[in-house]
Amino acid sequence: MATVIDGKAFAQQLRNDLKDEVTALKAEHGLTPGLAVVLVGEDPASQVYVRNKARQTVEVGMQSFEHRLDADTDQQTLLDLIEQLNDDDAVHGILVQLPLPGHIDESRVINAVSHDKDVDGFHLINVGRLNTDGGGVVPCTPLGSLMMLKSQLGDLSGLHAVVLGRSNIVGKPMAALLLQANCTVTVAHSRTRDLESLCRSADILVAAVGRPRMVPGDWIKPGATVIDVGINRIEEDGKTRLVGDVDHASAEPVAGAITPVPGGVGPMTIACLLHNTVQQARRIAGISED
Ligand code: NDP
Repeated sequence: MATVIDGKAFAQQLRNDLKDEVTALKAEHGLTPGLAVVLVGEDPASQVYVRNKARQTVEVGMQSFEHRLDADTDQQTLLDLIEQLNDDDAVHGILVQLPLPGHIDESRVINAVSHDKDVDGFHLINVGRLNTDGGGVVPCTPLGSLMMLKSQLGDLSGLHAVVLGRSNIVGKPMAALLLQANCTVTVAHSRTRDLESLCRSADILVAAVGRPRMVPGDWIKPGATVIDVGINRIEEDGKTRLVGDVDHASAEPVAGAITPVPGGVGPMTIACLLHNTVQQARRIAGISED
């Protein structure tokens, strides 16, 4: 039976460490990292995410700035706000909650955030750095997934990693990180042929497709480590449930280790956002890590 990787406990540990780091930054350098979150519109899921982010930001001792704009806010107003946050010395991280309403050009907005204050790792400069020198800010979900993989497996060198999904926010940066960690990486997507045998050849399987329980246990190599990024809301037995992209009931007896949904990658994503904000605050202030 697989070890279930406890993302909640992992995220709690990361937040505890960040709290100590923030305390030290305040005491030794008079620096309080600050995260600004911008939400446009009233999407209920986004509102929950923003509330959780703000609460956890304050819990680790950082400053939280929330900006809520109406759904019909025009693009220039949003760009003006980002400009103002780029110039604000109390703000070290800027996160614009996605998705944005259809009349706003997401790419334009993402790249208007100063790359020094980008905490999502979506700015083109940070994307470029991830794929070249690895020195920029790394997107939160892949970063959290990599942390759990390293803690579970130690050195990842030479392992075959299969990443299901090629989105800019999960699949592609995950593949870049695994490559940097010396895995042999295969990225699969909706046009990939014979997904089943490909998955069965994976020592590490990262599922980020957004399809409930798409990966059954018999697609998994015995003993493989499975990171289930999927968050899918389904109706089952008269209840709303959150399920991953992996069918856990059949996967757990086969895999060596697996992240649950919920309680796996999800909690790590916010913890990594806080981690990225502290890193950016250090960079802006020119304070290196000890
Ligand atoms: P996208 O919809 O942007 O990308 C999905 C990817 O999966 C695409 O590359 C698509 O291929 C591929 N895909 C879709 N169907 C299949 C299929 N049948 N076979 C093979 N590949 C397929 O999703 P995201 O990357 O944004 O998110 C993926 C999942 O992760 C979602 O469930 C999302 O909710 C979750 N998520 C969780 C986070 C967390 O914090 N835990 C954070 C972000 C996302 P193609 O490119 O060919 O269309």
